[in-house]
Amino acid sequence: MSNVAQILKTMEYGPAPESDAAAQGWLDKHNRSFGLFINGEWAPGHGKLFDSVNPATGKKLATLAEASATDVDAAVKAARAAQPGWAKKGGAARARYLYALARLVQKHSRLFAVLETLDNGKPIRETRDIDIPLVARHFYHHAGWAQLLESEFPGHEPVGVAGQVIPWNFPLLMLAWKIAPALAAGNTVVLKPAEDTSLTALLFAEICNEAKLPKGVVNIVTGAGETGKAVVEHPDIDKVAFTGSTEVGRAIRLATAGTGKKLTLELGGKSPFVVFEDADLDAAVEGAVDAIWFNQGQVCCAGSRLLVQESVETRFIEKLKARMETLRVGDPLDKVTDIGAIISPRQRSQIAEKVARGVKEGAVLFQPKVACPEGCFYPPTLLTNVESASTLAQEEIFGPVLVAMSFRTPAEAAALANNSRYGLAASIWSEDINVALDLAPRIKAGVVWVNCTNQFDASAGFGGYRESGFGREGGREGMFEYLKLKAAKAPPSTPAPSTAPVLSESDAVDRTAKLFIGGKQARPDGGYSRAVFAPSGELLGHVGEGSRKDIRNAVEAAQKAESWSSTSGHARAQILYYVAENLSARSAEFVERIRVMTGTPKGIVAKGVEATVRRLFTYAAWADKYDGAVHSPPLRGVVLAMNEPMGVIGIAAPDEAPLLAFTSLWAPAVAMGNRVVIVPSEKHPLAATDFTQVLETSDMPAGVINIVTGGREELAKTLAEHRGVDAMWYFGANGAAVEAASADDLKRTWIGGPRDWFDASAEGREFLNRATQVKNVWIPYGA
Ligand code: NDP
Repeated sequence: MSNVAQILKTMEYGPAPESDAAAQGWLDKHNRSFGLFINGEWAPGHGKLFDSVNPATGKKLATLAEASATDVDAAVKAARAAQPGWAKKGGAARARYLYALARLVQKHSRLFAVLETLDNGKPIRETRDIDIPLVARHFYHHAGWAQLLESEFPGHEPVGVAGQVIPWNFPLLMLAWKIAPALAAGNTVVLKPAEDTSLTALLFAEICNEAKLPKGVVNIVTGAGETGKAVVEHPDIDKVAFTGSTEVGRAIRLATAGTGKKLTLELGGKSPFVVFEDADLDAAVEGAVDAIWFNQGQVCCAGSRLLVQESVETRFIEKLKARMETLRVGDPLDKVTDIGAIISPRQRSQIAEKVARGVKEGAVLFQPKVACPEGCFYPPTLLTNVESASTLAQEEIFGPVLVAMSFRTPAEAAALANNSRYGLAASIWSEDINVALDLAPRIKAGVVWVNCTNQFDASAGFGGYRESGFGREGGREGMFEYLKLKAAKAPPSTPAPSTAPVLSESDAVDRTAKLFIGGKQARPDGGYSRAVFAPSGELLGHVGEGSRKDIRNAVEAAQKAESWSSTSGHARAQILYYVAENLSARSAEFVERIRVMTGTPKGIVAKGVEATVRRLFTYAAWADKYDGAVHSPPLRGVVLAMNEPMGVIGIAAPDEAPLLAFTSLWAPAVAMGNRVVIVPSEKHPLAATDFTQVLETSDMPAGVINIVTGGREELAKTLAEHRGVDAMWYFGANGAAVEAASADDLKRTWIGGPRDWFDASAEGREFLNRATQVKNVWIPYGA
């Protein structure tokens, strides 16, 4: 028997198992067999059955129904039928239901937590203290958005029916992230949980009925990838929200291209965990534990790449290894367990394979001598001697595996942090606030945690940059994903173009307007030009026939102009004012040019040029005013929601209003700090090529605005495919091709239709929102 002195020496914990009796009882009550939740009722389903298994024990928990395409169709029909009534209830009435759901989650929190742990294998400490409280918080927070919807989102309406597909790593939390904003905004949903973890979604279905949610507002269809595909591809779905692997995200982008479905993708990550030499190393070690061993490392934003400053590398790694020796791997229901079960044998073997491959490539493996049960368990793992370009450092492992590298300077830390195709999250550890807040904006990631990690809250948006997907969940920005603007004002009917002979342009024939790349007039690479005609058929001149090579050159020039993104809004405003003034001074010239080119009556053209000048003044005004927000989540600290430029934006402008539409697109992008490559109106390009002279006299830095004339569809596709372009705006009839071309690097796209460019709806927040992405920087106070 141990005496007190011995116990104090070993500090061994005794087992502290949580009882699973209530969860087992709930499963028994359902005869361990579940159907689909469609239109507020349980339906048997027309597909096969499959088992839900406890990964920690390998024991079957229940039999579930795999929803077939017919079942998905029934669910979508139920959601469609329920949607108008749900929207009509108004935000305040919907808020009451969301409050009710939040309270019921709290009331049943223990059952939810235990059921989640049984089904997923994550430690009860996490489901009890993190997952389920965050679920309740999400419903409460979004009850608030429902209440405020009409006043805070004027001019918006619900998207309609949302198809939502979620993964297995945070089953109920991902459900809450998807369902709460959708319902708050007035949408109805069809949700497919992951095949491995459907049970808490089914318990949630029960509480929807307990909350007396109208039938059809929430529909849950269980099943595997095929069921997910049926949801995503159903023609009557208006919005797809997906969380999961980048590979499936890419397939969904392709499947939805051209359908008009609104899309958000929350995908993988390889997030850096950056430790500076002046960090509190002990705190940073605890941070690393939370970053990579929380939920067995099966976290999209896991801090899986440790970047530690060389001067403290040895000390930090030693401390980390010592801490790893104290981690407890085992029974997820035991309250002292740190690392529970991996979701499935398949996932476990993938982790083991990736680690073995890394070791073969030269990485040095460290696994503590902690007991690790047989089965779906994997020990905490640290790999050192890892190259930044290696598979280990680039590919998501999605397991309790940390790979370590070192850096010397903050600049090197930024370069290493950004050396990834992903951009979901980052964690920075330094006691010097200047060091941390200098690095935060330089890391391309949607969330940055300063001296903390894996913090989530409903008030702060979550989502990625680059191949980590697009769109945000949580916060105001998350609400926008489930809303759409009421239709933009339609274009006015334009008078038939005058086909009278062109008098004032008779000398134009000899001139070939060049491309505008890197602040210079540039001949098209192929040396070809295309003729521009007046409506009368008369030749007005030529413009360069841009090619793939010209687009590449223009993108390169735009990339080089990176400093524009960190130029102050104040400075950007001044340059835009200057452009506006210079255009204003040459108004008469532009009016004549556009009149001749389009055959539009002079009075209308003059109004268009005037509107263009005004629009430039508007965006000059916005340049230093499109502020972010400071959130106050339930932590001692703040979250800075910063509106960051996208980077390089490709723009294909429409034919109508050749100067006004062209300017209405590039100006908000440039005002927010983006650099653009713009393809102007194919039919009427001369207003844009003349405009280069205005730019040349306006102090606009070289490379910020690049103009490539030519065949719009081909050039737009090239831009959409280009990996150096961060977002693509396309106004035209072939949005499907642009969306499909963007799938490779999961670029953000904006497909616009015809609109009245003179109207006030053609400027302002909608455009600024498209020109920016939100980065949330978490800054806790105190020690
Ligand atoms: P998937 O991306 O395959 O699964 C996510 C969800 O999508 C699940 O509900 C899945 O169903 C469903 N699904 C699968 N194929 C399709 C399809 N073609 N169309 C629509 N829905 C589909 O992830 P996995 O679960 O297979 O995990 C694989 C890897 O993905 C992990 O190792 C990890 O690297 C990464 N991952 C990333 C996550 C993140 O949060 N970013 C979350 C989960 C995984 P079903 O469960 O039945 O397969």
